[in-house]
Amino acid sequence: MIRTGAQYRDSIRDGRAVYIGGERVKDVTTHPMFKPLVDIRARIYDMQHEAATRGALTFEKDGEVNAIANKLPMVQQDWWDKRRATDTVLEDIGGIVTRVGDETVGEMWSLYDGQDVLNEVDPQFSANIRAHIDHVLHADPFHVSANTDPKGDRSKAPQDQDPDMLLHVVKETDVGIIVRGAKYETAAAYANQAFTKPTIANWGNAALSDYAVGFVCDLGSPNLKFICRTGFAGRAPAEDYPLSNRFDEVDTLVIFDNVLIPWENVLFYRHTKAATFIRSCLHRYSAFAFVQRNLKLADMMIGAALFNARQTGLDKQQAVQEKLSTLAVYREGINAHLTAAIALAERSPAGLLMPNQSLLYTGRVLACSQLHEMMHLARELCGGQICVTPDAAAFAAPETKPWLDKYYTVNEDWVADDRRRLLALARDMLNSDYAGHRLTFQLFAQSPPFAHLAAVHRNFDWDGPLQFAKKAAGLSDKVLLDTGRTPGDRAVNQWFSEQIADKAAE
Ligand SMILES: Cc1cc2nc3c(=O)[nH]c(=O)nc-3n(C[C@H](O)[C@H](O)[C@H](O)COP(=O)(O)OP(=O)(O)OC[C@H]3O[C@@H](n4cnc5c(N)ncnc54)[C@H](O)[C@@H]3O)c2cc1C
Repeated sequence: MIRTGAQYRDSIRDGRAVYIGGERVKDVTTHPMFKPLVDIRARIYDMQHEAATRGALTFEKDGEVNAIANKLPMVQQDWWDKRRATDTVLEDIGGIVTRVGDETVGEMWSLYDGQDVLNEVDPQFSANIRAHIDHVLHADPFHVSANTDPKGDRSKAPQDQDPDMLLHVVKETDVGIIVRGAKYETAAAYANQAFTKPTIANWGNAALSDYAVGFVCDLGSPNLKFICRTGFAGRAPAEDYPLSNRFDEVDTLVIFDNVLIPWENVLFYRHTKAATFIRSCLHRYSAFAFVQRNLKLADMMIGAALFNARQTGLDKQQAVQEKLSTLAVYREGINAHLTAAIALAERSPAGLLMPNQSLLYTGRVLACSQLHEMMHLARELCGGQICVTPDAAAFAAPETKPWLDKYYTVNEDWVADDRRRLLALARDMLNSDYAGHRLTFQLFAQSPPFAHLAAVHRNFDWDGPLQFAKKAAGLSDKVLLDTGRTPGDRAVNQWFSEQIADKAAE
């Protein structure tokens, strides 16, 4: 089933306790700081029905139409389709939003891969994850991610400080568990459900812990409170800050003040092995859509920088061309990782098709770790005028307009209003509060940089380089290695085998 924008709006008008700027929000769908993102999410739902876009966003199976973003990936085409669906949305809305569902739903597929681990704990839990993946397909909820607790003093065990610093179970009942604590969750105030699980933790030797709990939280549950950071929308005119006013994804500290989680929503409980498993592969699928956002951001930076260089006639300078090329190298580096991750995709333990893990995780490090430098380069290319240009009101006011028309009209093709608009876009993308927030989002929202590198360490095939160096150095066979293949070879061999199998099937 696919929902409409109106159905989505109705679903979040459930009396939830949302606060922003110290005030209780009456209706999250109409509040000026939430409305722009609620409208975009509603637009994505409506695009699933519109003739021009439904082909890119939905698929039909057994007479039922479902969202491509929610489809379990089984074959390469599923990944091309997902990539196209995300592009279709971002191009339609004319900007970048990340936490709108396609980027978070994949976290549940990672747990689906851990059904063996869940079965060891309790077979009911593996039945629950299958049911939830099915539910997402058929009910089309807006699904977000909850990992990060306030955490408190990391030098102390949770039991030695306020125990709520990490979310934990306080009681078991016949109908479910009662949980207490808090999580940071982007978009939770206007979403339907969140896959909630422990943050990165060192469980030591403990096999069981009240803190090792994972569940799907219905965000309309009683006793939840959503305390949001102040939004960017409405702070300054939309003409001057076009991104802040339309694409701010409001982050929330979600308070769990003794919230009942029904047993059917519990995905694991008390077993640290399950918690460790999910942390080891949480972004196995969802990193793809996350990194894809960097690609779109790179496009926006390149576009703004190149337009500026063309407006000012600087695009013919070799030094300027080299800087533009550096941006292009960054963009194409991300593109290459994403494309190769699909082309060399791998089977998961549960039989799903994962993007090639080494390429995906190294691509995430490339995209996120270089972003600040690329933003700085784009800022440099756009020039100091992005932060000294007067606002739209000054361009319209009778006394100042003639002067600004004179100095901002570059030639007959580039009139003052277009130059002002381009500089406003560049300022909001590179210099504003929103720009800093987006950079921080890419740095942290899918775990911090050290965890990105840890994922590379777990997924890169170290044996290939060892083997190569072993031979070059003439090391003895006392040096034992698993394989004689390089990491690239391993993926390429799999690709060849699949091609041969496909040809045989034809
Ligand atoms: C814009 C934004 C949106 C977010 N959205 C979500 C969301 O939707 N859902 C969600 O669950 N979370 C979300 N987060 C939270 C995000 O996952 C955390 O910020 C991130 O996991 C880091 O946790 P922390 O902020 O508590 O930093 P800390 O854990 O305090 O870490 C700070 C720094 O300390 C160092 N450090 C800490 N521990 C280690 C270690 N073990 N090894 C090496 N270095 C270490 C690193 O330099 C690290 O960057 C969001 C964050 C941001 C900024």
